[in-house]
Amino acid sequence: MCASDCPDVETIEFLLAALERASEAVVIVDSDLRVSHFNAAAETIWGVRRSEVLDCDADCLGFSDLRHSASSEFTIRRSDGSRIRAQLSASRVEIGGRSSYMVFVRDITAEVKRRERIALLNLVADKTTRAVVVTDRNLRVVYTNAAFSGMFGYTAAEAQGRQANELLAGRLTDRNTLAKLRRRICDGRGDEEEILAYDSDGNEIWVSATVKAFRNDRGRIKYVFALLSDVSENKQLRSLQQLIMGALADELPLTEIADRLCRRVEVIAPDVVASVLHVDSDGLVHPLGGPSLPDDYSRALEGVAIGPNIGSCGSAAYYGKPVLAEDLDTDPRWQPFKTRPLAVGLKACWSTPIKAKDGRVIGTFAFYFREHRAPSRWHQRIVDACVQLGALAIERKEARAQIARLAYHDMLTGLPNRTQLRQLINQAIDDCKGSQLALIFLDLDHFKDVNDTLGHPAGDALLVEFAKRLRPRIQPSDLLGRLSGDEFVIVLPNCDPARASRVASNITAALASPIWIDNRQVPISASMGISICPDNATDIDTLMQQADAAMYTAKEAGRSTHRFFSADMNRLAEQRLVFSAALRQAIANDGLRLVYQPQTRTVDGALYGVEALSRWHDPELGEVPPSKFIPLAEEVGLIEQIGLWSIREACRQMAAWRRAGLDVPCVAVNLSPLNFQNATLAAVVAETIAANGLPPEALMLEITEGVLVNERSAAIETMNAIRKLGVGLSLDDFGTGYSSLSRLAHLPIRELKIDRSFMRNIERDASALAIATAVVRVGQSLKMAVVAEGVETEGQRRLLAGLGCDVVQGYLCARPMAPEAFERWLVEHAIEQSRAMRKSVDEARSQPKPSLLVASTGG
Ligand code: C2E
Ligand code: CA
Ligand code: CA
Repeated sequence: MCASDCPDVETIEFLLAALERASEAVVIVDSDLRVSHFNAAAETIWGVRRSEVLDCDADCLGFSDLRHSASSEFTIRRSDGSRIRAQLSASRVEIGGRSSYMVFVRDITAEVKRRERIALLNLVADKTTRAVVVTDRNLRVVYTNAAFSGMFGYTAAEAQGRQANELLAGRLTDRNTLAKLRRRICDGRGDEEEILAYDSDGNEIWVSATVKAFRNDRGRIKYVFALLSDVSENKQLRSLQQLIMGALADELPLTEIADRLCRRVEVIAPDVVASVLHVDSDGLVHPLGGPSLPDDYSRALEGVAIGPNIGSCGSAAYYGKPVLAEDLDTDPRWQPFKTRPLAVGLKACWSTPIKAKDGRVIGTFAFYFREHRAPSRWHQRIVDACVQLGALAIERKEARAQIARLAYHDMLTGLPNRTQLRQLINQAIDDCKGSQLALIFLDLDHFKDVNDTLGHPAGDALLVEFAKRLRPRIQPSDLLGRLSGDEFVIVLPNCDPARASRVASNITAALASPIWIDNRQVPISASMGISICPDNATDIDTLMQQADAAMYTAKEAGRSTHRFFSADMNRLAEQRLVFSAALRQAIANDGLRLVYQPQTRTVDGALYGVEALSRWHDPELGEVPPSKFIPLAEEVGLIEQIGLWSIREACRQMAAWRRAGLDVPCVAVNLSPLNFQNATLAAVVAETIAANGLPPEALMLEITEGVLVNERSAAIETMNAIRKLGVGLSLDDFGTGYSSLSRLAHLPIRELKIDRSFMRNIERDASALAIATAVVRVGQSLKMAVVAEGVETEGQRRLLAGLGCDVVQGYLCARPMAPEAFERWLVEHAIEQSRAMRKSVDEARSQPKPSLLVASTGG
């Protein structure tokens, strides 16, 4: 180095002063690599004072070999322990004749971070499957990622600088969509648009494009960023979806839907043959679609049970996972099934289970390949879409079947309901041409009582148990169904009357033991009627009617038994129809009448009241006795109307008698238990007596023990309401039911009527008299008036009077009479009464002492 080249001292001083003020850190290192200068900015970067580093070895600042690196990056460990990434540039200088290094150091930590982030973004952009294009504001490409090159076939260098829309748009690209995208860029909204683009070879690619503009500080667009994804596949899958949805909406059969699905799949994936199988709840497969598979092969799969080694589909269904057999020829699972597919050139099969929402396997979707191979990514995508569509279609079919089951089955017992039963019976009748068929109509005995007293859940339990006991008594080929309520039907094909009778007897025996409901023993029995096809009839309706009629005779015969239909019953059944129609007419047209039977006191023979009894004279059927039309009215739902009519008619008659000056103390009207189920009865009674101007004690309502069956029934409330009106209640036919005495005591009943069956033998039979005595005593102990019915002889009357029975009613005194006849009877009875009174007074006169007493009590 020559001295003239060297700056003078002044220059050096100036230079150092300048360096001191520099914003960049400057360190001067001498030729011995010791720090000779350290400016203020350097102090800041390293976080040390120059006094600490001057004359120290340059290594302490983190400089490595300054001789060889003019510019490099290195890490500064600051005095506070933090690290800074810095860039140094060193140059050799002569300072004061000594060779030194002037080192400029810049903190590039932030820059490094930014660089790393950009590198990462580049990496991400290149890794993403979506193509990324960045253009300048004139849409000239400035950046493309690897996916872009993959999708469109242009390298980044080839794309650079080209106009993006010229590069990608082509013959069929929709110019309107392009314009829309351009507007999007300007207004800053970032929605997706689908547009047809072209690759470097001119192939069409449907892409979905999201575009976004980046603006500078002044709001001018600097870059345009576009994200493009290939939706060609999506489009095809969507069209697949539309196809199936359309088919579902058109309610096409499942097999048709499956066939269409397979055909479309084979179009979009030309290298596969598709098939769909249904897997039922028993794990059996049923081919649904596979239009390109040989027919005989599909047929052979029908009913095959799924299992761990059953081809691809059977195994996939069994494990609930996709199963791939790359070589059908050698795959052990395929050995029993491989011949047909191999024969038509199918070499591999990949099957995926179709699952319902609840995870059950309900089908399989299979791809057969013509080469040994595994599915591609595209195949996987198709299958993903198809198993969902398949599940939708199969589940819909299952839901339909479930609805059909509900429509055709009785929910409670699981038996066929009326609708299905009819179909099945018709089928059975058709099938049994040439042989006999038996139809048994079954009706549970006393079912209503169980329902009323123990509640509906108990009734349901009884029905379920009944169905359960019936099933083992018949053959699997026989039919059993529930018609309604407690009515069931059994049909025995190829069955003669002898076997039908045995089956019915077996059923009666099977019901012999009671069932337990809520720790209670409940007896169970049924009455059955049997009709035989073709002997009795050949059509379902007639056979049912006949078996029903036969069932009634079984009920009449004491229940828990069976009866065959006979021609006589047919006549009876027809009669019932005729009679009920006529009765309905009679009620509507005021065709019923009331007759009145007097009730007299035992003490003095005075009139106590009358019982009103209904009579029906039909112009064609003649006089129909109440023993016939009252039960009929109960059966066909007319009894309530008869009761209400009786109340009105009896009250009207009573008012008429009172106006005529005839003294009838009380009229008793017969009501059915059904009348008491109606909460408005008391109101109707109140209104009727008021309308006729009668005092409440002029009316008595006769009820039977049937009213009392159910403790919680509304009937008790109705009874109390009636009693409150002052109207009396009389318990009819007392002694024939099973009412507990303690309960009777708490009911608002004023009178007991001893059933006429007790009268029959009281004069001759000591035990009959004992019973009658007990019944009278019950009435007395309950403080009710006791009325004896059916008193026909003077002997009976005397006995009853002796027992202390208050009132008698019967043929001895009078038969029930029409009002005019009763009026005449009443007049005669009054004359008779006074005659008897005069006689007893006369007798008293001839026998002086006690007779006056008798006369006064009889007065
Ligand atoms: P019930 O209420 O026990 O009526 C008494 C029945 O015994 C009447 O038969 C009557 O004629 C008959 N009778 C009266 N005295 C004698 C006698 O000394 N000997 C014999 N053997 N029988 C006698 P009826 O009128 O044929 O009525 C039969 C049943 O029909 C009645 O029995 C009653 O349960 C019912 N009934 C009649 N009219 C009506 C009505 O308007 N409504 C309702 N719900 N039931 C009625
Ligand atoms: Ca009565
Ligand atoms: Ca009676």
